[in-house]
Amino acid sequence: MAETSTMPAFLVPGDSEPVIRLADARKTYKTGSIEYEALRGIDLTIRAGEYVAVVGPSGSGKSTIMNILGCLDTLTSGSYLLAGDNVEDLDEIDLADVRNKRIGFVFQQFHLLPSLSAWRNVELPMMYAGVHKDERRERAVAALERVGLGDRIDNKPGQLSGGQQQRVAVARALVTEPTMILADEPTGNLDSHSTEEVLGLFDELHASGRTIVLITHEHEVAARSRRIVHVRDGLIQSEEVLA
Ligand code: ADP
Ligand code: MG
Repeated sequence: MAETSTMPAFLVPGDSEPVIRLADARKTYKTGSIEYEALRGIDLTIRAGEYVAVVGPSGSGKSTIMNILGCLDTLTSGSYLLAGDNVEDLDEIDLADVRNKRIGFVFQQFHLLPSLSAWRNVELPMMYAGVHKDERRERAVAALERVGLGDRIDNKPGQLSGGQQQRVAVARALVTEPTMILADEPTGNLDSHSTEEVLGLFDELHASGRTIVLITHEHEVAARSRRIVHVRDGLIQSEEVLA
């Protein structure tokens, strides 16, 4: 991490390896006899250290893209190379490893377990990743300190504001030191102050070399990224590179 953070930001996108390469990615959902083509041929390359926003109206296929990128769902046709590996060739154990260690997820609805304290929630991905018990608590507390919640480690989600809950979710996403953060409408349920806090954390993660894919339908949120991919009706409509 120290290595990448010293690399000038302008060198990162053009010079680094693609972490994500979608080629003619298609996804068809079948509900009974009805088929719906949610992705209709997406070509998308994202390089290590990029901060990319995927923007589009409701129903355009953003969450489908996130589920594919996060190996939570599979393509109907086309290919997805993750750090050079064809995801189709990975077995369940490899895929679980990718989801638990290489990718940190942040969702609109936080997805925290209500009966567990903040640090216990942050500990969970480390349990799946097989980190030793003593180390788990130490790292969970450090991650909560990093998101400014060092004084809330024993609070349950219900005792925290929406913004604080999303910061717990960000701590949970970064505690395994993943190379990539995938966030699906992470500020969709937050007020403007909490939105700013969460986007500030993403800025820091980007500065420390993480690849970030941020899904949003809000243009002000997308404007925090360095590249905006506009999606509509399951297709990429246009891309903008920001300064
Ligand atoms: P977005 O996140 O941009 O709002 P989604 O990727 O969630 O869009 O959905 C894209 C389209 O695919 C929508 O029309 C949605 O109704 C449909 N869809 C999403 N998930 C499913 C599913 N599990 N089964 C059937 N249709 C789905
Ligand atoms: Mg969605």
